[in-house]
Amino acid sequence: MPGPVSNVVAIDGPAGAGKSTIGKALAAKLGLEYLDTGAMYRAVTFCAMQRGLNLADTALIGELARSVTLEVGARGVFVDGLDATAAIRTPEVTAAVSQVAANSEVRAEMRERQRAWAATRGGGVIEGRDIGSVVFPDAELKLYLTASPRTRAERRVAEAGGDVDEIERSIAARDHHDSSRSDSPLVMPDGSIVVDTTGMGIAAVLAYIEGLMTSERAEQG
Ligand code: C5P
Repeated sequence: MPGPVSNVVAIDGPAGAGKSTIGKALAAKLGLEYLDTGAMYRAVTFCAMQRGLNLADTALIGELARSVTLEVGARGVFVDGLDATAAIRTPEVTAAVSQVAANSEVRAEMRERQRAWAATRGGGVIEGRDIGSVVFPDAELKLYLTASPRTRAERRVAEAGGDVDEIERSIAARDHHDSSRSDSPLVMPDGSIVVDTTGMGIAAVLAYIEGLMTSERAEQG
């Protein structure tokens, strides 16, 4: 396993809290690369569904996770070389991803790939559910982004359309699944700074985080 990597900003939080938008903007400001780890779990789920595999077969899905070629980056998401950028975001994949993400074999493989990604780049802004708690507990900065369930559902509707009540119910179900699993559940990591983005625009959230970073640096002398 690679040793601790400096220069990691870990962003965790429930669905629709603004992690991707803020993560990308923060990465650009800091001159770091950005990794969406949710896209990795989505990609494994998509691949398993496309092959008609039984998602409940943990050994089979674990083997798939170890063997599949994944590319997750600015160009999009590629699964075994094929563009799956849109396909990993369908309601079917979204409804199934938490089951695959609860599989410890899948998690072990994704964790190693995430650590290798950061080691190759000397750090990065990495977003997910277990980044500050499990994958990079020594991250320089750990943010836990959240917002009210209604706000999070409204953001999803603004991005992709749909019925706000239905989306609120589906993200609540996914958050419950992600928070109650035994392997690396969604938690507020030790040492994380909680940012409630309810009622805040992107610029305000970014300014707030930059202010935090400046004051942390000043405190460290
Ligand atoms: O971030 P996004 O909503 O695309 O993540 C999709 C799913 O991937 C989450 O609901 C969760 O089940 C899983 N996930 C995870 N650990 C991460 C990132 C995502 O379990 N670090």
